[in-house]
Amino acid sequence: MDLNDERGNLAQVQHVVLVLSGKGGVGKSTLTTELALALRHAGKKVGILDVDLCGPSIPRMLSVGRPEVHQCDAGWVPVYTDANKSLALMSIGFLLENPDDAVVWRGPKKTALIGQFVSDVAWGELDFLLVDTPPGTSDEHLAVVENLRKHKVDGAILVTTPQAVSTGDVRREITFCKKTGLRILGIVENMSGFVCPHCSECSNIFSKGGGEELAKLTGAPFLGCVPLDPQLSSCVEEGRDFIQAFPESATFSAIS
Ligand code: ADP
Repeated sequence: MDLNDERGNLAQVQHVVLVLSGKGGVGKSTLTTELALALRHAGKKVGILDVDLCGPSIPRMLSVGRPEVHQCDAGWVPVYTDANKSLALMSIGFLLENPDDAVVWRGPKKTALIGQFVSDVAWGELDFLLVDTPPGTSDEHLAVVENLRKHKVDGAILVTTPQAVSTGDVRREITFCKKTGLRILGIVENMSGFVCPHCSECSNIFSKGGGEELAKLTGAPFLGCVPLDPQLSSCVEEGRDFIQAFPESATFSAIS
């Protein structure tokens, strides 16, 4: 690694992709995890940087618990989920003595921690680094984007549910991307219909097509839909791989 490279710990990372959502609970962390697993399945080396201070859920989804994080000369060593070191994870949750404390921190404290966190993880060589951000467009997002700017972020994938489109949350996310110069790589509609566990029929509980409509409106690529699937949520809860649901081919071409 060229130690003079201003990208520092991200110098050997080929692609940096942010995953954003307008609000919590729409499946952003689930889809970040699913995308990482799908990329690993395709033979890529992947890292996930979980900066969701108030709800770091990816360690649970990948069944790594709350390990002790070690330091090396270059910074914090990520936690590897497999012996081949093909999936690395660093969660801000690992660094907090008491994760509940962060909920009451003021903006500047969160911003400072995120700034340091983004630059100080020793990723080594990675094909993709996926950054799971908190929901919304807060100081934390600005801190992530500003600290990653010099590392040439490829862009962001926006996760929405069909009905969230009409509430305007995702539109605010789009405005945030435009204002900060973040390219929208694509939009994924999650919880798009419900797959019956008995007959596998998919029913549209909410409206459908909102994600696609939004993509047309903004000119961003529509990457596909992921239905509400009880199998997916139990796999996520138990930390098991479940890659069939993810619109991987469209997403892979958008982020490569
Ligand atoms: P966010 O990161 O946007 O807050 P999560 O990824 O934590 O949301 O997802 C919230 C909950 O919804 C989790 O329990 C997750 O298992 C579940 N979930 C997300 N997407 C799906 C889906 N397509 N089918 C079934 N359950 C889902």
